Amino acid sequence: MKQLKKHLYINGKQYEAENYEPLFSPYNNEKVAEVAFATEAETELALAAAEEGSKIIAQMTAHERATILENLSALIKENEEECARIISLESSKPIAAARVEVARTVMTYKFAAEEARRIHGETIPMDAAPGGEGRLAFTVREPLGVVVAITPFNFPLNLVAHKLGPAIAAGNSIVLKPAEQTPLSALFVAELSEKAGLPAGVLNVVPGYGHIVGEKLVQDNRVKAVTFTGSPPVGKKIHSKVGLKKVTLELGSNSALIVNHDADVAAIIDRAVTGSFANSGQVCISLQRIYVHEQVHDAFVDAFVKKAKQLKIGDPFKEDTDISALITPKDVDRALEWINEAKELGANVLTGGEREGNMLYPTVLTNVDHKAKVSCQEVFAPVVIINKVSSMDEAIEFVNDSKYGLQAGIYTNQLDLALKAAEKLKVGGVMINDIPTYRVDHMPYGGIKESGLGREGLKYAIEEMTEMKLISFKK
Ligand code: NAD
Repeated sequence: MKQLKKHLYINGKQYEAENYEPLFSPYNNEKVAEVAFATEAETELALAAAEEGSKIIAQMTAHERATILENLSALIKENEEECARIISLESSKPIAAARVEVARTVMTYKFAAEEARRIHGETIPMDAAPGGEGRLAFTVREPLGVVVAITPFNFPLNLVAHKLGPAIAAGNSIVLKPAEQTPLSALFVAELSEKAGLPAGVLNVVPGYGHIVGEKLVQDNRVKAVTFTGSPPVGKKIHSKVGLKKVTLELGSNSALIVNHDADVAAIIDRAVTGSFANSGQVCISLQRIYVHEQVHDAFVDAFVKKAKQLKIGDPFKEDTDISALITPKDVDRALEWINEAKELGANVLTGGEREGNMLYPTVLTNVDHKAKVSCQEVFAPVVIINKVSSMDEAIEFVNDSKYGLQAGIYTNQLDLALKAAEKLKVGGVMINDIPTYRVDHMPYGGIKESGLGREGLKYAIEEMTEMKLISFKK
């Protein structure tokens, strides 16, 4: 394969950097590219370019911004196979799953284009208060200026789109720092954005280390908002450093599913297995904990394990691969340590619990202690626990006994139980008759507790990336 040398992308140009780092495939450790890693001085150049870029995009009309986003969506569609190949190359995501990510990204930019045309305020009936007579008042939503976007490795194309799409729709400029392991997708989007007609300086991409590039970006006074997707520890660190900037934090979770005794077990197994093991469990709403009613527990476990054993692990570029390498070998070590800890606390390993190179076999644990890390921390690996419960109330208590709160799912045919659960579950989104791993890109999405702050989903992200202004006109 031809080796790539990728530069920084600043002010509409490829920018030759001082430092380049080798990028290795997580699957076979082969070197796949050389990538510029920005210094503080180069990060400064990106911020200065974004500051100028913010003035340009703020002057553009809604239909001009929408057209650029429509073009970007069309260009990703045109280059869909190349986009999928890049995702698999840098992250070892199985190619079939990478194609799904690309299709979603096409939709994400399309939704952003549509939302760009309907950013509006409302009229305020000022005379509802004594002293408010004789005034016409309304709100408008204005762009913020420079937005900093920091993204994780697990959806290197679509999670970048969840930041660029709304930022451009809202009329902001961006400095984007992609994850160390997955800069190639972000840099490819930068190339496409130029073809889509985005003016120079509006998008700047600076791959590099979190503690150098990321920390400089989030503390800079020219930056008006920080939108971060990544792990809770880094999210907390960023939150402590942003000062009075707006901040959106999309963090991790240990998402759970409740299966009641009235659920049609046979009909939900495929879905539950997909939710647990898609992208090797490296999904923020990966299904990590399943609480199954005792009446159907054994049937559920048997069918689940049978299906999990059928998953194919291997080369991400093979069409039928379901599970490939974790992002680093250390993550395999960590997952195995956590599995062992659960075993010591009394858990049974029904399948998996073994590695092959940088891959971990899909692992199913039952009878897991709630204090075990595989239960109460975010595993971010192909590991799922299935525990028995005797009532829905007990299951809800277990789900809520978590420092995270992103999404939860519940399967039941009883409407009253489903609605009661929806009310009681402490999460950002409840999926009735589906897994917590369900997301379409325009829905409001985000967590409570240590799963984050603010919401994504184009319309909602635009609210986070604009400032409301009131205009009152005394007649
Ligand atoms: P990570 O937190 O290690 O890294 C995310 C980004 O933060 C990277 O670009 C990294 O370079 C940067 N970073 C690291 N240290 C920094 C610092 N001190 N200052 C500024 N930036 C810094 O996360 P990851 O391993 O890439 O991704 C996995 C995590 O992301 C999981 O916890 C997962 O749940 C979460 N995630 C959440 C969502 C969501 O929408 N809620 C979606 C995907 C992933």
